[in-house]
Amino acid sequence: MLIPCFACESRFRPDEFFLACHDYNRGMDLVAWTCPRCGNRDDLRVLPDALGFGYPRRGRFDVQDRFQVPGLRRQRQDLRLDICLDKDVWHVHTRLNRLAHRSPSRT
Ligand SMILES: [Zn+2]
Repeated sequence: MLIPCFACESRFRPDEFFLACHDYNRGMDLVAWTCPRCGNRDDLRVLPDALGFGYPRRGRFDVQDRFQVPGLRRQRQDLRLDICLDKDVWHVHTRLNRLAHRSPSRT
């Protein structure tokens, strides 16, 4: 199961992909993602069993394309989003929380 960068068409294992997520925006319910290969920045929403790609518009995030990721789950916290896939969990923090760094901790 590999997740593509839509800019350079590199494909990433889920671990590589989700570690590149940063800046959880709770209001718009999206996370920013920067491609480790080409540096392209994308916005996406973590959905049950899918990633939603799209564009912020009028203060909301419009999902245009979905990429299926079977088993993907998310939990919204106050200042971070927890992305769960199988037994792995990735924490994406909000940008305002400068002291918190992304911790690829596993449970
Ligand atoms: Zn790329």
